[in-house]
Amino acid sequence: MAIVVQKYGGTSVGTTDRIKAVAERVIKRKKAGDEVVVVVSAMGKATDHLINMAKEISPNPNKRELDMLLATGEQVSIALLSMAFQQYGFDSISLTGLQAGIKTTGVHTKNTITDIDIDTVKSYLDAGKIVVVAGFQGVNENGDITTLGRGGSDTTAVALAAKLNCICEIYTDVDGIYSVDPRVYPLAKKIENISYEEMMEMASLGAGVMETRAVEIGCKYNIPIYVALSSEEKRGTYIKEYDETMEEKAITGLTINDDILMVTINNVLHKSKNVSIIFNKLANHHINIDMISQTAPLHDYVNVSFTANLEDEQAIDEVTRELTDEMPGIEICKDSNVAKVSVVGIGMKKQSGVAGTVFNIFSDNEIEFKQVTTSEISISYTIDSRDTNKAALVLAKGLNL
Ligand code: ADP
Ligand code: ASP
Ligand code: MG
Repeated sequence: MAIVVQKYGGTSVGTTDRIKAVAERVIKRKKAGDEVVVVVSAMGKATDHLINMAKEISPNPNKRELDMLLATGEQVSIALLSMAFQQYGFDSISLTGLQAGIKTTGVHTKNTITDIDIDTVKSYLDAGKIVVVAGFQGVNENGDITTLGRGGSDTTAVALAAKLNCICEIYTDVDGIYSVDPRVYPLAKKIENISYEEMMEMASLGAGVMETRAVEIGCKYNIPIYVALSSEEKRGTYIKEYDETMEEKAITGLTINDDILMVTINNVLHKSKNVSIIFNKLANHHINIDMISQTAPLHDYVNVSFTANLEDEQAIDEVTRELTDEMPGIEICKDSNVAKVSVVGIGMKKQSGVAGTVFNIFSDNEIEFKQVTTSEISISYTIDSRDTNKAALVLAKGLNL
């Protein structure tokens, strides 16, 4: 008998009928002889509704209390799914993150899993039960309930699979990983097999289909991740170690992230100490910085720009206030009308000329970019958000994605 971890996302458990359908699908697997651990997200947009409620109480809710609130979303879906199994005559138990032994560390709403005390899950599996675990949550060193950041149920699932040393299947509302988000570019091609490295890069650059940390854990423990449609049996995509069967194109995928903002600090006195003050303050506020650029010094002054996640806007405003007090001559501009478009491909390690091709496509289509950064397997451009759809379309066509 093999163990399998299956994860069903928010849309897939969005209504009680869908929860029953998920139960039926899991039961088929159980009948085929597998032991199943099911990880579920909160129903539909439940997490968004909880966040909105918190914001109605306070514009900047206490993060510990926010975690306490957000974790309730998944508690609803695990209980309902477990009831469905029992209604169909199958033995099942629902477990919160704490009950499943999921230990986390870090700051509230952005925790990472440090370990899983897997004995509880194993003992219920040994007793023949279908084990239903709440995604996205755990418990920290102080015994407080924590959450793992948006999309964190993927991480719960892969981390459990790593501990159980089994495959992880992610069932969602799309039938696999595509070269471009099919909602943005319906002609995008489905990828049969993708390497951890490429998927990690795509996820971190904005492909919301998988959470980055989940792919990282899969890569670290060599756990194959299968992404497929929850509502139909249809071949999906395997995320696994790179091998020769994977198509070696220079570019595998294109991602768009419009949940970013770009901050420019003008008139910074050209001293490395000043730049270090800026970025230390951002780090102290747990703000994740993405692209950084600095102009060449002009009359001893430079302009420094960086991009960050829109969700950190409040913390950025706080840093901005502190910086203006400390460096009176500076001027800070914040622009949320920007998006990051990136092209990703492991083939870029060997093939040159990708940046040039993209520059040509941008210039032929009169798309201006504000920043460019590269990694070994990706190139990212910050552009005006009004050009996002056009950029996605012309790049996808031009690069045959
Ligand atoms: P779940 O609630 O199941 O976790 P998500 O909304 O997090 O689902 O992820 C699925 C969505 O990811 C799809 O509906 C799709 O629009 C989006 N997506 C973004 N990039 C891609 C991509 N490259 N391939 C497939 N889907 C993508
Ligand atoms: N419910 C959480 C969210 O909406 C976690 C998840 O769905 O993975 O972000
Ligand atoms: Mg998701």
